[in-house]
Amino acid sequence: MSELHLPNRIRHSALARPSDPVITCGDRTLTCADLDAETNALASALVGVFAARVGALLRMGLEGAEAFIACAKAGAVFIPLNWRLNPRELVDIALDAELDVLIVDDEFAAGAAAIAAALPEVAVITVGDEGGVTDSRTWAEFGASGTGIDPGLGHDPDTAVLQLYTSGTTGRPKGVVATHRNLYNEPVGFEVYEFGSNAVALDALPLFHIAGAGWMSTCLSAGVPMVLLGDMAPARVAEAIATHHVTHAFLVPAVIQTLVDLPTLEGFDLSSLEVVAYGASPITPALLAHAMNVLNCKFVQRYGMTETTGSVSVLRAYDHHVSGPRSGLLRSAGKPMIGVEISIRDVMTGEELPPNESGEIVARSRNNTRGYWRRERESAELFTHDGFLRTGDAGHLDDEGYLFVTDRLKDMIITGGENVYPIEVESILAEHPSVAEVAVVGVPDKRWGESVTAVIKLVDGADVPSVDELIAFSAARLASYKKPRQIHFVDSLPRNASGKLLKSSLRTTLSASGETS
Ligand code: ATP
Ligand code: MG
Repeated sequence: MSELHLPNRIRHSALARPSDPVITCGDRTLTCADLDAETNALASALVGVFAARVGALLRMGLEGAEAFIACAKAGAVFIPLNWRLNPRELVDIALDAELDVLIVDDEFAAGAAAIAAALPEVAVITVGDEGGVTDSRTWAEFGASGTGIDPGLGHDPDTAVLQLYTSGTTGRPKGVVATHRNLYNEPVGFEVYEFGSNAVALDALPLFHIAGAGWMSTCLSAGVPMVLLGDMAPARVAEAIATHHVTHAFLVPAVIQTLVDLPTLEGFDLSSLEVVAYGASPITPALLAHAMNVLNCKFVQRYGMTETTGSVSVLRAYDHHVSGPRSGLLRSAGKPMIGVEISIRDVMTGEELPPNESGEIVARSRNNTRGYWRRERESAELFTHDGFLRTGDAGHLDDEGYLFVTDRLKDMIITGGENVYPIEVESILAEHPSVAEVAVVGVPDKRWGESVTAVIKLVDGADVPSVDELIAFSAARLASYKKPRQIHFVDSLPRNASGKLLKSSLRTTLSASGETS
C-alpha cells in the first residue's frame, strides 16, 4: 500500500482529514470520507461484475470523478468518451476500446443506445433520475450492489488506469494508455501552481481530454478541494469562481477569450483567483496580456499532450512579462517539467539540433505513455530510437532552455518552397482590431504548391475591413511569402471540445469549395 497513486491519496485523505470537503458539484459537496466510501462501494460493484474496461459518457462532474477513482481501486481501466461525437463515431470508439461497462448521463442516452445496440454484452449504468436508457441500472443501485469493501486492486505502478482518446485534431482519435506511474505528477502542484492552504481548484474541462482528467488527478493527488463544472460557458465559469472562491482554474485559450470578453464580467467578484493555468492549444501574446490584465492574477502555461499524460513543459508565473526585455517569453511554452527531458530533432534525419534551430519537439519522461491501445505500428512510430516521444509539434529551444512551440508539423504550409507556420500568421492577423478569431491553413494551389489562406471571424459590430486591407496589414508585418493570399470571412470557426481549431476540416472545405473570397 505504499505507492503514492491516486487511490492511496484518496484513502489517505479519508484517514487524515475525513470531514474536509474534497469535491463540490452543483449543490452537492463530498467530504474526503464520503469520496472514499462512495468509491469503495462502486469499486466493489465493478469487481462484482468483473469490469475491466469501463467507458463513461459523462460531463465533468462528481460521477466522473467517482468512476475514475473507483476504476483505479478496482484495477479497471477508466475510458471517458467524447460525448460530442455522433453515435457512429462513439460506436467505433466503444468497439476499439472493448468496453464491458458503460456509465452514461441520461443526457447522452442516444449515444449510449447506439453503443448498447452494437455491443449488447456491455452493462449500462445510468446517472440521473430520468432513467433515459432502457435496461440499465442506476448509479445508486449499482453502488449498492457491491460489498462496499475497498477491493484494493491494481497497485502496481505499471497498471493501466486510464485510456483517453486523442482530440482527433489531426486525424482519427487514438486510444492512449496511461498507468499510475504516468499520472505521478503530484509534485507539480506544489512547485508550479503554488497551492496554498486555502486552495480551491476549478475543473470545467471535458473529462475525456487529458487536460480535464489530468488536472483532476493533479488536484486530488495534491489534496486540493475541487469544484467541478459540466461545461465551460464563460458566465458559469465566472459564477463558479465567485461563488466557491476558486483560487486555481485550468482554462483553455478559447474559454479565456470568451471569459475576458464577457459583457457581464464586472458583476462577478473574481478576486479569489490566484492562478490561471492554461494550455491545450496555442494562445496569442495579445490575448494573454489582455487576460492577465483583466483577471489580475498569476498565469501558468502548460504544454503537453494525451501521449505525455499532461505537461511536457511549463511557463511559470514569473516568466509572464507583459512588457520589457523578457516579454518575448509570452510566446514560449516555458521550461521542461520536473523529470522531463526535451530535445529538438531534425525532421528528416532525426539528429538532435542545437539551440535556436527548429525541428520536431521530442520528450522523454515517466509520464510518457507506453503506447496506443491496439495500434502496434503507430505505437512503435511514436518513439525515437533513444526512447523519446515524438510530439508531432515543431519548435525550438533558446539559449536559456526555453521551449518555443511553433506549430504542428502537419499544419505547416509549404508555399513556393518556403515553410510557413500558420500560428505566426494568425498572431499577426489577430492584432487587427476587426479580427475576433482567425485560422490560417494551406490550400492546394497549382502555382505555389499550397497557398496561405486565412479564415476570419470578425468582431461583432466592427468595421468590415477589405481583403486587400488585411493582406496589406499582414504584408507590413511579415515576410511577403507568409502573407495570406486569400481571405474568407465566416460566422464561426470549427473547433473541437477542447476549443482546438479543426484545421483539417477547414482545409477540406476550402479545397472542395474552389476559390471564392
Ligand atoms: P490528435 O493527436 O488526435 O490529432 P491532439 O494532438 O489535438 O489530437 P491532444 O493530445 O489533446 O490531441 O493535444 C495535444 C496537442 O495540443 C499538442 O501536440 C500541441 O499541438 C497542442 N498543445 C497543447 N498545449 C499547447 C500549448 N501550450 N501551446 C501550443 N500548443 C499546445
Ligand atoms: Mg496529437
